[in-house]
Amino acid sequence: MKSGTRTTAGRGRLYDDILETVGNTPCVRINNLAPDHVTLYVKAEFFNPAGSVKDRLALSIIEAAERDGSLKPGQTVVEATSGNTGIGLAMACAAKGYPLVVTMAESFSIERRRLMRFLGAKVVLTPRELKGFGMYEKARELAETHGWFLAHQFESEANADIHEATTGREILADFDGQRLDYFVTGYGTGGTITGIGRALRRERPDVKLVLSEPTSAQLVASGTPQERTAENEPAAGHPAFEPHPIQGWTPDFIPWVLQEALDQSYVDELIPVAGPDGIAWSRRLAQREGIFTGVSGGATVAVAMELAERAPAGSVMLAMLPDTGERYLSTPLFEDIGAEMDASEIEVMESTPGFQMPR
Ligand code: PMP
Repeated sequence: MKSGTRTTAGRGRLYDDILETVGNTPCVRINNLAPDHVTLYVKAEFFNPAGSVKDRLALSIIEAAERDGSLKPGQTVVEATSGNTGIGLAMACAAKGYPLVVTMAESFSIERRRLMRFLGAKVVLTPRELKGFGMYEKARELAETHGWFLAHQFESEANADIHEATTGREILADFDGQRLDYFVTGYGTGGTITGIGRALRRERPDVKLVLSEPTSAQLVASGTPQERTAENEPAAGHPAFEPHPIQGWTPDFIPWVLQEALDQSYVDELIPVAGPDGIAWSRRLAQREGIFTGVSGGATVAVAMELAERAPAGSVMLAMLPDTGERYLSTPLFEDIGAEMDASEIEVMESTPGFQMPR
């Protein structure tokens, strides 16, 4: 073997199914984009088998329901999801043999629908103008009508529990004996912040927890409480909601799972971020760090960068990257990425005589 060649050792175990590979995602340092006076790490959830943080939740909801008997062998699972939960559920349901029906507003990216269908799920679209609430009501109606198991990602205890038991523990283990000053995340269901909040408050209470939401949908910052049903579901859309381009973040209601983080004061600071900043930072992460994440990951890093500007020298920060950028090919994230050669590429092509495309 040549000296200096990188080697790997394998994982030291064999896996009984794909679901055993969920979690244990790496925290990776940002080297080219972060200012010199801070150290920024990102937790790269695109290492999960179906490419997002929601693989954890999908597995947790299915296995909790198997344990308590609310999900019977072969029963259909149904859920309203903007995509990543559906993709995670589709993976889990495929591996475990449950049919899956997903309801989804037509405004979410095409590849998310196709991915779920590829993984064997049925995807039922709901009108754009009915927003998150519309797709949620449809899933509930389908579950009631057909006796299907509704996954309830926005209310289920299995959501924050899995982040406390896995994501939070991983952070504690990886930063054991190391400085960590800030943890930064957005919210969709709130499972990430609530679960990690529990773990960090208990074992690393000095870590500041920073939550973000889109500037055009500042539901938490508005201070207006969410109206809820007796089952903790939203009774109506939240008045502060406006559509935003950060898919997977901030639905048009404050989820029950997030409410715990707010009520228990797991949030030390709330920083809004504009959608276009999320897009810009996602591109920078790809082009300057080789880290390929979606708009919500870009938005989280945008918030970390803003925070870094006023953080004391030596601060160590961790930002969540919830999913892979590959999930956004048909969205504004890739809008400026052409399919044809641009002028600089043509210049490279013409710099040698052979193998030229006709002009
Ligand atoms: N980003 C993306 C792309 C997501 O799909 C989600 C989950 N909806 C989140 C962030 C937020 O995670 P959580 O639901 O745990 O708050």
